[in-house]
Amino acid sequence: MKSQSNLCEKCRSAGLIVPAEIVHHKVHIEPNTINDPNIALGWDNLQALCRSCHAAVHEAEYNKNKTPSRYSIDENGNVII
Ligand SMILES: [Zn+2]
Ligand SMILES: [Zn+2]
Repeated sequence: MKSQSNLCEKCRSAGLIVPAEIVHHKVHIEPNTINDPNIALGWDNLQALCRSCHAAVHEAEYNKNKTPSRYSIDENGNVII
C-alpha cells in the first residue's frame, strides 16, 4: 500500500486518484497457495485497489467462470434475468 502511496492502482492507471483500501492477490490465496511465499507475499502478485475496483476484479473472475446469464424482456419492457 505504501509503495503505491495508498492509491488504487487501477484507478490511477485510468487517471483517477482514489485511496486504496485492499491489497488484492492476483493469484488468489487458497488452501493450496497460502504457504507459497511468492503468492502470499510476492510483490508481483499484489495489487493495491479501492473497494469498487476490488469488487469489479472478483466479479469479472466470477462471471468468467460461470455459464452466461440469459435475459428476457417482459411485456412492460423490463429485463428479466
Ligand atoms: Zn479503484
Ligand atoms: Zn482480491
